[in-house]
Amino acid sequence: MQGQEEAAAGSPAESCQIVHVRGPIIVGAGPSGLAVAATLSRHAVPFTVLERSDGIADLWTNRTYDRLRLHLPKVFCELPHARFPADFPAYPSKHDFLRYLRSYAARFGVAPLFGRTVTRARFDAAAALWRVTAVVSAGGRAAATEHYASPWLVVATGENAEVVVPRVKGRERFTGEVLHSSAYRSGERFKGKRVLVVGCGNSGMEMCLDLCERGATPFMSVRSGVHVLPREMFGRSTFGIAMSLLKWRLPIKLVDWLLLLVARLVLGDTAKHGLRRPKLGPLEIKNITGKSPVLDVGAWSLIKSGNIKIVPEVESFISGNGVRFVDGNEMAFDAVIFATGYRSNVPSWLKQQDDGELFTEDGNKAKAQQQQQQTSNGHWLGPKGLYCVGFSGRGLLGAGADALSAAADIAGRWQEWAAAAPGPKISSSV
Ligand SMILES: Cc1cc2nc3c(=O)[nH]c(=O)nc-3n(C[C@H](O)[C@H](O)[C@H](O)COP(=O)(O)OP(=O)(O)OC[C@H]3O[C@@H](n4cnc5c(N)ncnc54)[C@H](O)[C@@H]3O)c2cc1C
Repeated sequence: MQGQEEAAAGSPAESCQIVHVRGPIIVGAGPSGLAVAATLSRHAVPFTVLERSDGIADLWTNRTYDRLRLHLPKVFCELPHARFPADFPAYPSKHDFLRYLRSYAARFGVAPLFGRTVTRARFDAAAALWRVTAVVSAGGRAAATEHYASPWLVVATGENAEVVVPRVKGRERFTGEVLHSSAYRSGERFKGKRVLVVGCGNSGMEMCLDLCERGATPFMSVRSGVHVLPREMFGRSTFGIAMSLLKWRLPIKLVDWLLLLVARLVLGDTAKHGLRRPKLGPLEIKNITGKSPVLDVGAWSLIKSGNIKIVPEVESFISGNGVRFVDGNEMAFDAVIFATGYRSNVPSWLKQQDDGELFTEDGNKAKAQQQQQQTSNGHWLGPKGLYCVGFSGRGLLGAGADALSAAADIAGRWQEWAAAAPGPKISSSV
């Protein structure tokens, strides 16, 4: 561990360990955590990364479907200090991306402590330290508790840490299979089956496409409006075009209007096929809620041809394998997949006390950002040596920018701290 000063282990029977840390504690070894760690390593600042799973980038490794490719072109997904290899396709697959992340970690000497789930972090004002508790798991079981302390804490646990599955009436009555999109790998095993996908974001649309291509019959339940945009326009990525237009300082409403005009020309009227557009434009919605528009990779033509059927919001499960929709219609399905997204888990373990919470109970980052803006000039800096990386709602691009800012700030403080007290100024009890 790069930043471990010393470890005073308790006896195995006590299952408790106290670890004194030099440099910051980084929670999470996804792209955000790796980017901060890599940048700190370039600043020669030691660090300790705590990761709950048994490898880096758990979301990409264990909770995504096989056919997943980066939704955005590769130039918008590189982490700081390392380009993607030149032979990567324009939209790297998840396997390409994982290869890149593994070599990134190796190149910058990032060696996280795996199997550590952070369950509590609080600022100890008297000692001017963050005190962090992690449950250590071995073979899927909690084996011990460790305590860490550092003047700096980097929260990099992501906006997608926990799955969100809405409570639907009658769930216990449904005899078919029910899963969240994080457990979906491929449509292969649903061949010949009727599958209801609840949710029409990028994952929901792409799973419907996959199911269709693997011989299943997908239905997509749509509750509210959604913006579907072609992934590319005029041979260029839609996201890249939007970024360029915004760089020219065109008003966001005008950029939205242009995007929707081209989308209409390329895709036609999506409302005609059950996907009505929200009142606000795609970029405005992204700015306000963090919700991304769907970048179509092929599902739209299958919706138009009726191979993917659009159905309304689910009202309840009924006995057997039936589902009732809000329009009163009932249909039978072999499986229901909830493509209903994720939320942050930070509110459950980060305790801020007198400063108020940076994250709301439901992990809402809008309030978090608002409060951070009040205490600093960015998304990434909180009070008292707290840093948040990857919560700006801007995907990997935002995570990279946060990581550079956070690491530079920590490096400055680390140098001041080290100059003032070459030995670690850490209390011996936690
Ligand atoms: C299907 C899908 C496709 C996506 N495609 C793109 C894309 O193309 N481009 C893009 O920019 N973004 C994309 N995203 C968004 C993507 O999640 C992020 O850009 C990226 O993974 C964020 O990295 P992160 O490190 O902030 O979070 P994560 O990747 O979620 O990593 C967080 C890490 O923290 C760990 N962790 C969580 N809680 C704890 C805890 N309490 N203690 C210890 N460790 C913990 C997790 O195990 C995980 O390893 C996609 C998301 C999904 C779900």
